[in-house]
Amino acid sequence: MANEKSFMKALKCRECGHEYPLTATHVCEFDFGPLEVVYDYEAIRGSLTRASIESRPQTMWRYRELLPVAGEPTVGTQVGFTPLVKADRLAKRLGIRELWIKNDAVNYPTLSFKDRVVSVALSRAVELGFTTVACASTGNLANSVAANAASAGLKAYVFIPADLEQGKVVNSLVYGANVIGIKGHYDEVNRLCAEIAGKYGWAFVNVNMRPYYAEGSKSLGFEVQEQLGWRIPQHTVIPMASGSLLTKIHKSYQEFSKLGLVPNTKWKVHGAQATGCNPISAAQKAGLDFFKPVKPNTIAKSLAIGTPADGFYSLRVMKDTGGHCDDVTDDEIREGIRLLADCEGIFAETAGGVTVGVAKKLIASGKIPAEDSAVLCITGNGLKTLDAVANHVGQTREIRPSLREFEGLLEAEGAACKA
Ligand SMILES: *Cc1c(COP(=O)(O)O)cnc(C)c1O
Ligand SMILES: [Zn+2]
Repeated sequence: MANEKSFMKALKCRECGHEYPLTATHVCEFDFGPLEVVYDYEAIRGSLTRASIESRPQTMWRYRELLPVAGEPTVGTQVGFTPLVKADRLAKRLGIRELWIKNDAVNYPTLSFKDRVVSVALSRAVELGFTTVACASTGNLANSVAANAASAGLKAYVFIPADLEQGKVVNSLVYGANVIGIKGHYDEVNRLCAEIAGKYGWAFVNVNMRPYYAEGSKSLGFEVQEQLGWRIPQHTVIPMASGSLLTKIHKSYQEFSKLGLVPNTKWKVHGAQATGCNPISAAQKAGLDFFKPVKPNTIAKSLAIGTPADGFYSLRVMKDTGGHCDDVTDDEIREGIRLLADCEGIFAETAGGVTVGVAKKLIASGKIPAEDSAVLCITGNGLKTLDAVANHVGQTREIRPSLREFEGLLEAEGAACKA
């Protein structure tokens, strides 16, 4: 079976094109450009068809030829194929003809899209012989590394900003990972991890394993295209932390279209950030090709990266596709969370509030035309960021267990039982 063959060719510098062997390395020696996995698309064309994909189990690994592992994946083999939900009620509220929610809030096993990148990075880490894995994280990545490392019998060190939501912290500790809280912003966590990665022989999923890790995000885009009936959505709204997910969803559309799996139609990729950490959005709105680093201050902690590694490339993708970018305040983030919950029964974390809030702005301003169709990427689960909304969703009304008291309550609210 074709699955026993590697379709990866090399790592290649995105700047100068210099090629490197497929090891745990991520920057070019000549210009410090980021390295990216290149594939043998001719070989893939012969093996990956709509029919072959549809015959495989419903996980992200049904697109295995386009994911960077040499053999069969060994970690996170059940990740992905999350629901694509037609969101008619939300569409009506936002004023757009057709709207879809890609719901990675229910990804397996840790309820965020990070399970995709981690299953790829850890499967590749095992192939390369690592026994200790690590990451620099804004929360969800730490959860996923901790859980997937536990199930694979790998040792894990996860590094997070010390002030993360309790839900994110507990969701790493419970798996027995070494959780290190750094007194500083993510950007400082990341800098420290680069030093540690250089000194210890560990697989840092988003440092020395980053070229493999990042490719895992493509699976979200592959699924969207298949679930839409083999087509590319006109508009995709994507939350951005480092900007990697946005660039890789774009790449997934390019690859499927190049392989003839979907018709080659036009698409626009739009980015979403929090106003309290908007380096990419600020640059896009000002028409700049480069972002200026910021100090994050937002309830959307999963997106709080002030110096985004893929900021430059995500700006280029938005420019090339004619996409837009915007950002929303903490109040607008909470409103976005409530809107999605209210209309579609989906409880997203703060990043989801960012995506819905920005989509609302882009539709209202006509940047996403009302007669078009759009996909919103919901990337994490609201159960992990309860603190952000707990005091903004109303309160329980308490009564004694008595019918009279209940009816008194209904009467007081003018909603007395008519039966
Ligand atoms: C990490 C994360 C993102 C964005 O990731 P990047 O690829 O770094 O832009 C989006 N949403 C959630 C919930 C995340 O945890
Ligand atoms: Zn280079």
